[in-house]
Amino acid sequence: MNVPAKATHRQTRQHNQRLVLRTLYDFGPTSRAEVSRLTGLTRTTVSDVVAGLIADGVALEVGRGPSSGGKAPILVRVVDDSRHVIGLDLGEGAFVGALVNLRGEVRRIVELPVDGRDGDEALGLVYRLVEELLAEAGSSLLGIGVGTPGVIDTRTGTIRWAVNLDWQDLPLGRLLEERFAVPVNIANDSQAAALAEYTFGGDASRRPNLVAIKVGRGIGAGIVLDGSLYQGDGFGAGEIGHTVVEDDGAACRCGRFGCLETVASGPAIVARARELGLEAGTIDDVRRALEAGDAAAISAARLAGRYLGRAVASLVGALDIHEIVVHGPVAALGEPWLEAIRDEATRRSLPLLADSVEIRTARIAANEVVLGASALLMTRELGLSLVR
Ligand SMILES: [Zn+2]
Repeated sequence: MNVPAKATHRQTRQHNQRLVLRTLYDFGPTSRAEVSRLTGLTRTTVSDVVAGLIADGVALEVGRGPSSGGKAPILVRVVDDSRHVIGLDLGEGAFVGALVNLRGEVRRIVELPVDGRDGDEALGLVYRLVEELLAEAGSSLLGIGVGTPGVIDTRTGTIRWAVNLDWQDLPLGRLLEERFAVPVNIANDSQAAALAEYTFGGDASRRPNLVAIKVGRGIGAGIVLDGSLYQGDGFGAGEIGHTVVEDDGAACRCGRFGCLETVASGPAIVARARELGLEAGTIDDVRRALEAGDAAAISAARLAGRYLGRAVASLVGALDIHEIVVHGPVAALGEPWLEAIRDEATRRSLPLLADSVEIRTARIAANEVVLGASALLMTRELGLSLVR
């Protein structure tokens, strides 16, 4: 193939720019000489790239560092608010969008209730959400990161199937790119949330692997292996919500019967609690009753927890991952539910594996999907390692 010299040149420049930006981002205020040493690029190249970054407003000179004999070097750092990403969470009862800066700090958040919309109406709601945030971001917008339930082809940005929103083969990525003229990155919401928990919810003793299970209207897991999101051969890794766990079980929205979601999702818990005599309309009602010691609420939470524990046992058996995190609206049920998950997961796992497993609620309490979606986009567009 005949590659034009210009394109090659541009690619080299882009590569160098990413390398310098990432170094400044990871190391904080750094001198040009130090960037040159860290990246292996020549001082001239680094100076050129830094000049470009400063002209674009992405970097800034911030005084002088300690001298090593001669004149103290000028330090350069990244301007965290020079670029923004719009992160979207299209799960649950509301679509949530956030304007996030280069450090993953949420600058603005907008929430629009879904009110049962699906198909084209739900798509219209996505456009509205972006438009509201766009007004604030202006020219600093780097792109849009989307976390949505369902099986997503992340290469083409196509939602292959999102049961709850009635989206099938929806090219959401292309539609958003055409409408807003910025790069778009789409990931499954549970997968994005797992990445956010891994990136922002960690401590010094972090393990390289993590499974984060989202439990709300739907159930899905995100799997991080060796610090990277594992999406599987068909992007559906962690889609555990529609695994059949009960023969002859209740009808599921996916058209089959007895899926995990029919017994362990938020709506399933509410329905079960009602069967047992509790007047509950939402998972929040069940949580309040549970905290007041209501027997029906406790029983419904425990049953759902046990079903989820079986799924956890399968994941532990397949992956031998020690850190299992649960999050989403149902995780607010707390201990009796968690305890049931732990008991059942332990009971159904090889003791050697089960002993080292920690099952806990997420450390990131809010915005995990928008943060994960933003992190994915920044990694892709700028090579910034929000994801460590
Ligand atoms: Zn199903």
